[in-house]
Amino acid sequence: MDKYIESVYNQVVEKDPGQDVFHQAVLEVLESLEPAIKKYPKYKENSILERIVEPERIIQFRIPWKDRDGKIQVNRGYRVQFNSAIGPYKGGLRFHPTVTQGVLKFLGFEQVFKNSLTTLPMGGGKGGSDFDPKGKTDAEVENFCESLMFELYRHIGQFIDVPAGDIGVGAREIGYLYGAYRKITNNHGTCVLTGKSAGWGGSLIRPEATGYGCVYFVQEMLKTRGEDLKGKKAVVSGSGNVAQYATEKCIQLGAKVIALSDSSGWIHDSDGIDEEKLAWVMDLKNVRRGRIKEYAEHFKVDYTETKDGSPWSLKCDIALPSATQNEVDAKEAKMLVDNGVLAVGEGANMPTVPEGVEIFLESGVLFGPGKAANAGGVSVSGLEMAQNSQRFFWTREEVDAKLHQIMQNIHANAYKTSELFGMKGNYVVGANIAGFVKVADAMIDQGHRI
Ligand code: NDP
Repeated sequence: MDKYIESVYNQVVEKDPGQDVFHQAVLEVLESLEPAIKKYPKYKENSILERIVEPERIIQFRIPWKDRDGKIQVNRGYRVQFNSAIGPYKGGLRFHPTVTQGVLKFLGFEQVFKNSLTTLPMGGGKGGSDFDPKGKTDAEVENFCESLMFELYRHIGQFIDVPAGDIGVGAREIGYLYGAYRKITNNHGTCVLTGKSAGWGGSLIRPEATGYGCVYFVQEMLKTRGEDLKGKKAVVSGSGNVAQYATEKCIQLGAKVIALSDSSGWIHDSDGIDEEKLAWVMDLKNVRRGRIKEYAEHFKVDYTETKDGSPWSLKCDIALPSATQNEVDAKEAKMLVDNGVLAVGEGANMPTVPEGVEIFLESGVLFGPGKAANAGGVSVSGLEMAQNSQRFFWTREEVDAKLHQIMQNIHANAYKTSELFGMKGNYVVGANIAGFVKVADAMIDQGHRI
């Protein structure tokens, strides 16, 4: 690694030891930026790398809330406002027991480059809490969301910071958060949150956007090899928002999805998950809040617990990891390659470990990194902001067409940039450099205090 880049990376590790996933995300980006740093000396001269790895601001706060027995519980809340050079901070809120400042710094850092790639004016941020919504009643979730908003409301706004959903934060949570915001401020705030329901300010296609966008990105990668999704076998991990709509788009485009998972295990349905079965999964996960194991019981298919293996052992053409970070390890990447996988589209953020990414790239697998492949969600969040500003809504078809166009543009930009730097088809390099250059140039234009 270049000495200068290495020194920036070492400082990141020294300043915040223990933030492993953040270090991993920084290393992956810094390594791939090397050709751009060499080609354009202005970035080193303006200390852009030193600045871009440091969040502009981190807010950490206490979230006390009452459980069903009337006992006060305390969780920790965060908002990492990472970079606002090209627009207000934008990025989701995650509710999961594994949430720490380091996890949110990794997600906020990734978001900076992803949002830049969308071509929309959005900076990067991320937030959330170590609160676990699993097993909680609706009243407990509402109570928690309200308490979180008592602090968060003063840090957000249409020109400041616009949070959305992520793991554990779906339509129900966004509803409670928005209700609390309005109660506290007596203000609709034009657009302080995205992922709202369509009846009260949300955009059509926002729930579908990340999953659909990921499949659109895979479709573009396949086109470069004269292939398409028709007849392809796909494995999707997770069974939440991203996984559900990635599955739906795969079905619509003629692919056969044979697996879904949750943190407990995974199902293998060799006949394929059709629209009817998917509707059943959506009801299971979004309404009844059950476990994927129940699919196996209901449809009489195989179920394997996580401790006994992963769906990446299945033979497939397309792999869409759509659950969480580091869910595909090197061994699993190798299994996918050995089984002839053609394309991997990361629906989740950083689901593949660095060694796994290397294996995909070296084997010539079409690999769409999360920053590019899952940018459809935040893109339609950006479109939700635009619609709220003009107090007018677009139809499903209009939003879907815009999403499709954005994903095609992101693909073209990443592809072209990879070519420019002599690594044609390496979407990691292409997406990171293309996302970086726009933010870095904005920081230089706006002076050294940015
Ligand atoms: P959801 O909460 O809707 O679903 C998450 C799914 O992943 C669940 O099936 C969950 O299972 C599973 N999962 C979570 N943690 C683990 C784990 N440690 N091991 C195995 N499975 C796990 O979240 P989303 O679908 O919204 O998000 C999924 C991924 O996509 C995340 O990486 C997120 O950052 C990323 N993403 C989401 C966007 C969005 O618009 N929602 C936008 C861009 C990226 P269980 O129920 O058992 O926990």
